[in-house]
Amino acid sequence: MDAMDSTASQRFIETFWDDSILPSITEYIRIPNKSPAYDPKWVEHGYMEDAVKLMEGWARQQLDAFPGATLDVIRLPGRTPLLFMEVPGDNADTVLLYGHLDKQPEMKGWSEGLGPWLPVRKGDKLYGRGGADDGYAIYACLAALRALHEQKVPRSRCVIMIEACEESGSYDLPFYVDHLIQRIGSPSLVVCLDSGCGDYERLWLTTSLRGIASGTLTVRVLTEGVHSGDASGVVPSSFRILRGLLSRLEDEQTGEVKLPELYVQIPPQRIEQAKEAARVLGNAVYDRFPFAGSTQPMADDTSELVLNRTWRPHLAVVGMDGYPAPGDAGNVLLPFSTAKLSLRTPPTLDGPAAVHALKQAFEANPPGGAVVEFKEGSGQSGWHAPPLAPWLEKAVTRASEQAFGKPAAYMGEGGTIPFMGMLGEKFPDTQFVITGVLGPHSNAHGPDEFLHIPTGKRVTSVVASLLAAHHGRSAVR
Ligand SMILES: [Zn+2]
Repeated sequence: MDAMDSTASQRFIETFWDDSILPSITEYIRIPNKSPAYDPKWVEHGYMEDAVKLMEGWARQQLDAFPGATLDVIRLPGRTPLLFMEVPGDNADTVLLYGHLDKQPEMKGWSEGLGPWLPVRKGDKLYGRGGADDGYAIYACLAALRALHEQKVPRSRCVIMIEACEESGSYDLPFYVDHLIQRIGSPSLVVCLDSGCGDYERLWLTTSLRGIASGTLTVRVLTEGVHSGDASGVVPSSFRILRGLLSRLEDEQTGEVKLPELYVQIPPQRIEQAKEAARVLGNAVYDRFPFAGSTQPMADDTSELVLNRTWRPHLAVVGMDGYPAPGDAGNVLLPFSTAKLSLRTPPTLDGPAAVHALKQAFEANPPGGAVVEFKEGSGQSGWHAPPLAPWLEKAVTRASEQAFGKPAAYMGEGGTIPFMGMLGEKFPDTQFVITGVLGPHSNAHGPDEFLHIPTGKRVTSVVASLLAAHHGRSAVR
């Protein structure tokens, strides 16, 4: 027997999104509350405070419906604020729901009429920075609770945490988790709404997240720039040496990472699921990216592409220094070359160890005696989902069928959500539902980011239905 009328719940959520959520998210998109890493003066600017105020005000109205519910804006000294809500439930069990409100920076290349801080609605899409990543999360969580409340469906106690430092690597969050550990309790289910979806046709569950190992590699050959006509052939080029060093890490023909210590054994179940995801997605695995000209994806087999972006290490050079812009560049043999490296690492690889492996590989035997330095950046471990409990697997299938009309799909994601690694370590027996609305072309972190509204509504229905199933799980086990 179903405790919840899913059609009525979907109808409620649909109206609630249109009447209450979308107007507030529209206001939220206008606020340029970039994550601290991209706005070091965030306190002075006050935008983060504006976003907190907006969401706090909206959330308080919703929480009025729940006797005993609390909302605190927690502010540890010198750290980004955290929205913390406790909503009493019908048993002593706890579900932790997570999202973030800080944003990525603007990025160039927004289409005509669109912009990061300009909310624009076009059909099913609401354009603007942060709507989908991850502003909608707090709204979806509270809408799901409201939908259950309407029908008096029982659920466990819910704790909602919305942080303001995720896009900077969540460096403030461990302090909040320690600070709040008594109030958080020990959740048997974690719901995270900050992830991606392969398409907008079904529920996508994230089964793993990659880690990240970053750092800055500098090759120095001179103490100052000199005439290239005078010096080339005598003084080695720092670019050539940098290029050679990068080849220690990565095969320049194939893009394959060469260091065996940066790989893990891929679990057979994940290989099977990658094949299934590739089958469902077809060419969408790669043609959602804006390839220039006749640029080809890195493999012909789409299931290999899925595994490449979820279980294998891959390098991006994300910044360079030591070079003038071409228009300002004279014939100079430059003193140094610097490259900022961002290496995505397999879910189960230790992040700090990966950074260390990079340092060792680059700094050993400097070519031509050049000064080679790898400044270690952050090393975040990824995350690999524990096996789904049978009740949750059933509940997920059912929730996807009810909300989307299709069964759920399972896939790893290529990005990193640092908090999931942290939680996985703190609560090893917890079940995880990690999903999101970041599907094809939604372009979080890039230009023309949009929130796919029907998916936002459906994901909200899924959350409601999983909360109901979580409470009823002893009955259906
Ligand atoms: Zn995010």
